[in-house]
Amino acid sequence: MPEGDTIYRTARALQKAIGGKVVTGFDTGLAKLARVNDDAPLVGRVVEKVESRGKWCLIFFSSDLILVTHMLMSGSWHLYRAGEKWWMGRDRMRVVIRTAEWEAVGFNIPVAEFHTAGSLERSSQVPKLGPDILSDEFTVEGGVARLAAFGRENPEAEIAVVLLNQRVLAGLGNVYKSEVAFAAGVNPFRAMRTITPREMEVMVEVSQRYMKANVVDGAGDGIVTYSGNRRTTHSSNREERLWVYGRQGQECRRCGATVMMRKQGVQARSTYWCPECQPWVGMGETAAPVGRAMVVRRGKIGC
Ligand SMILES: [Zn+2]
Repeated sequence: MPEGDTIYRTARALQKAIGGKVVTGFDTGLAKLARVNDDAPLVGRVVEKVESRGKWCLIFFSSDLILVTHMLMSGSWHLYRAGEKWWMGRDRMRVVIRTAEWEAVGFNIPVAEFHTAGSLERSSQVPKLGPDILSDEFTVEGGVARLAAFGRENPEAEIAVVLLNQRVLAGLGNVYKSEVAFAAGVNPFRAMRTITPREMEVMVEVSQRYMKANVVDGAGDGIVTYSGNRRTTHSSNREERLWVYGRQGQECRRCGATVMMRKQGVQARSTYWCPECQPWVGMGETAAPVGRAMVVRRGKIGC
């Protein structure tokens, strides 16, 4: 699914291609958007800017109109030169924004709505996003403060579920959630009340570093899709890009223990962790240690 960095890249590619350009055509398969376009046509407006806020992509048009899209699991924005063949069928097209040179096509976008600056401000979803990890204003201190505040109000919330909560910090997706917890040596099932300020600091710092490292330039031309090239380990080997995500049953790259996976949270998202590098810390609680009992050691101890 698209993670924050994917949406960020998408927004940046859209900004490069259609930012500052006049809209010459607009099509949509979504009735709600079509109605707004009938009343207040997009053609003739200028695309003022495109920005990402966590997993939301916002396209600002002149005269106070904002197209807000969320990709959820299925959606994507593609860029095509005028007249170029689309990589997906017309039936999956939800929105097309045309300029003299480009067609920005939103496929399978499940959430798309028009806003004014005022309605966006009042929207129950978009403005409530936490600070965007990839924004220039984001600071580690600010991120830690958000985590700590949420932890005080939700002491039993599990850290990896909180890392995914876009209202706390915007941008982390399911892959980075596991990678960040691993990098900080934090068991992803620990309750917020057991997480130390130092651990929060490491997780926020690592979140920012990983996400920035995975935002690469050069997506301005041609098709924009999820590249699958996320990496956190510094290894140039494609197979060794991630520490724990997707590696259930394989050896931990650090200690050789067996990487575990379990579904977590109400959304049952897959969480990967190393039970040795991310030991359970229950602070005297009776909660069952997660995974510890099932550790299978395989050589390479303490590498
Ligand atoms: Zn390990």
